[in-house]
Amino acid sequence: MAEEKIPFTPISTIGEFKLIDKITKDFEINNTSTIKAVGDDAAVICTDRHQVITTDMLVEGMHFDLSYTPLKHLGYKAVVVNLSDVYAMNAYPKQILVSIALSNRFSIEAVEEIYKGIKLACDHYKVDLVGGDTVASPKGMTISITAIGETTKDKLTYRNTAKEGDLIVVTGDLGGAYIGLQLLEREKKIFIENPGVKTDLEGHNYTVGRQLKPEARKDIIELLDKLNIVPTSMIDISDGLSSEVRHLCIDSYVGAVVHEEFVPIANETYNTALKFGMDPITCALSGGEDYELLFTIRPEDEDKFKNHPDFSIIGEILDFNLGVKLHTKGDNYHDLISLGWDNTKS
Ligand code: ADP
Ligand code: MG
Repeated sequence: MAEEKIPFTPISTIGEFKLIDKITKDFEINNTSTIKAVGDDAAVICTDRHQVITTDMLVEGMHFDLSYTPLKHLGYKAVVVNLSDVYAMNAYPKQILVSIALSNRFSIEAVEEIYKGIKLACDHYKVDLVGGDTVASPKGMTISITAIGETTKDKLTYRNTAKEGDLIVVTGDLGGAYIGLQLLEREKKIFIENPGVKTDLEGHNYTVGRQLKPEARKDIIELLDKLNIVPTSMIDISDGLSSEVRHLCIDSYVGAVVHEEFVPIANETYNTALKFGMDPITCALSGGEDYELLFTIRPEDEDKFKNHPDFSIIGEILDFNLGVKLHTKGDNYHDLISLGWDNTKS
């Protein structure tokens, strides 16, 4: 939590053009479809496949808190949340555009840190930075990233095409990012009240990492390809499982049942939730920012998913009139609702 002592050079000392050059010059081009990247009036992309385009905006104080988010992590996460939306279409991201609004509170060094994180993500996910915009802001920071991906028409996967009888699959585990956020907020409070106190996040690497440095599930899209499976529908889990299952059902005009006992929760998430006096399943159902994938498959494909460590089959798609239900461990059925936490931010 303690601020690192890095130099502070005002952006005004070099101006916008030099700043853009400084922060973008180390980026390499990974994709043959990128014909022209940063440096002209517009980027040029050439491909014969379907294009998938998505954008997300992150506002300081609303979507991120710089008192506990390192700038490099912020840059990385800002890219990842966009790529996750491209993967959720069963497509591969290829290019990004990054627009950033900055107040004079931010130095050249600070912007460079953010771009180090953006570059790490570009290298890891093999996407090209092809443009953006840099503007001044009277207050705080806003980052808006647009990601462009591609896939073939037969692989494109929408969220409104789930069918009765399909199985509901979720990747990874859930609730970790929410618990990580609770830990960071707790540490921030302690730090504000007692600035001398050393922060203590020991034993919480997994959950704090899920919050500060999430990954998008590129590996799952590659695996689905290898298994020769096109999900019948798919969505990424940014707002929590309940909310995304409901989205998928409303858009597909179907109902669903999710079995509580099959919802994947990591041990660290489970144990920390209990320490906070929270119900772990509530964290998994309503906590956001896990960036896992939720998709549906035809029941005949079930064998390909059984016992696979990355996949949990958590429920079934039902007729619309049956509603969207949670089947609890105690064998009760409730409406699957997002439990009143703030989901307005996404
Ligand atoms: P213009 O005035 O024609 O919009 P800019 O000076 O804004 O041009 O941008 C010059 C080039 O740098 C363009 O290719 C633009 O896409 C790119 N660019 C500007 N800001 C950023 C940024 N924050 N990140 C990445 N590329 C940027
Ligand atoms: Mg511009």
